[in-house]
Amino acid sequence: MAAPSKPTADPTDPDCIFCKIARGEIATRVVYETDLVIAFDDAHPQAPVHTLIIPKGHYAHLSDGMPDEVTTAVFSAVPVVARIKGVNQSGYRIIVNNGPDANQTVGHVHAHVLGGCPMTHGMIRFSEES
Ligand code: AMP
Ligand code: ZN
Repeated sequence: MAAPSKPTADPTDPDCIFCKIARGEIATRVVYETDLVIAFDDAHPQAPVHTLIIPKGHYAHLSDGMPDEVTTAVFSAVPVVARIKGVNQSGYRIIVNNGPDANQTVGHVHAHVLGGCPMTHGMIRFSEES
């Protein structure tokens, strides 16, 4: 685990798809942006509202020295995105897949904001289930 470092807004990984989005090299539907984070609609939405919030700096996992200020910036963006997407009153779910067991497929920290329809209460389906 890397030691916490200074917040950076530099999307430094040349091969990371979310760094490319943060650098503006891949077109996305940007929902919200600050100095430290950018939110954009998921390319393969799993709910009527499915927006991702990422730090602009590259941190593969939550334990990769992501500074508290960046963590705060990501989660402070959640209610703002929810308001923009119109689900602030109806409710929404936040998911952060972190690491292999969670099936994180993009190695750049991101929070999923899902909403726009009622969801079941169960949050986890294990891989041996289908
Ligand atoms: P996870 O499985 O938690 O790592 O989530 C990665 C998410 O990134 C998936 O929901 C993908 O649909 C989404 N995704 C991958 N590439 C893009 C892209 N270019 N633009 C928007 N969303 C993307
Ligand atoms: Zn990245």
